[in-house]
Amino acid sequence: MDLSLVIPLLNEEESLPELTAWIERVMDEHHYTYEIIFVDDGSTDNSWEVIQQLRARNPHVKGIKFQRNYGKSAGLNEGFKAAQGEVIITMDADLQDSPDEIPELRRMILEDNLDLVSGWKKKRYDNRLTKNLPSKLFNAAARRMSGIKLHDFNCGLKAYRKKLVKSIEVYGEMHRYVPVLAKWSGFRRIGEKVVEHRARKYGVSKFGWNRFINGFLDLLSIFFIGKFGKRPMHFFGLWGTIFFLIGLGFALYLVISKLIEPEFGITNRPGFYISLTAVILGVQLFLAGFLGELVTRNSASRNFYLIEEKAGI
Ligand code: UDP
Ligand code: MG
Repeated sequence: MDLSLVIPLLNEEESLPELTAWIERVMDEHHYTYEIIFVDDGSTDNSWEVIQQLRARNPHVKGIKFQRNYGKSAGLNEGFKAAQGEVIITMDADLQDSPDEIPELRRMILEDNLDLVSGWKKKRYDNRLTKNLPSKLFNAAARRMSGIKLHDFNCGLKAYRKKLVKSIEVYGEMHRYVPVLAKWSGFRRIGEKVVEHRARKYGVSKFGWNRFINGFLDLLSIFFIGKFGKRPMHFFGLWGTIFFLIGLGFALYLVISKLIEPEFGITNRPGFYISLTAVILGVQLFLAGFLGELVTRNSASRNFYLIEEKAGI
């Protein structure tokens, strides 16, 4: 199979028929063998019924329906697991991404030998102030922390080599940082293509202002997990030791001073409190590291999403 299109969606019933027709047109034009995997992320409208109607007309349309809303990342994760194509394309269901970009994205994976091609919405068509500026800041932070030179990490339109999507797990709200997950897994050939971005035709955006807070926290955890996820003791243990030694140093100073000069009052010195706090912090950090090690050693897969129904998968 040439292509798998993975499309996570939440309450997008109006867009689905139009999107499917457009994708079919592009696929037929290029004679691709393909599948469209719609992942219904707990929609409360008629999205799932619409998907089934589309499937009745075209068996290349497949669907996964979550029992509840798990988030876009979960949708991508399950779509990736089910995908069979050599190249996997992800896109949003809201018609903001153009299926006409698919052939070129696929060509870049296969001929330019890239593992991942990310879309870049150079000219955006959504609310300027709430999206453009924060998104610029984000991308700058993500670029710095990950060392991946992409302009638009969060673009829903991306293309992947099959091996890549089978090697990563997209959890939490990590859909913003799939290129970073890919890099951590050793897929370094990451490219970018300027893509057409369109205004949302139907429905509303599913992410509010808290996208920025969550996005920032996820950036921190991805950075931390990527660096120390498999060896938490190297982080906590180091800082635990440093704090413990600081505390010990102050304690020694106090004890020696007391021995030399019997009138020396230990408890009314700042050093006493510094020593106390530092030793406690040090031990706590150490414990955190130790618990972290136990958790990483004993955790199997982190993810488990309840799937209510499947169609064609
Ligand atoms: N989406 C989803 N689960 C969610 C939120 C969003 O599957 O919990 C889908 C949504 O239906 C759309 C895509 O993710 O297909 C991008 O969402 P949206 O268009 O609302 O984001 P924006 O374009 O505003 O960044
Ligand atoms: Mg959108």
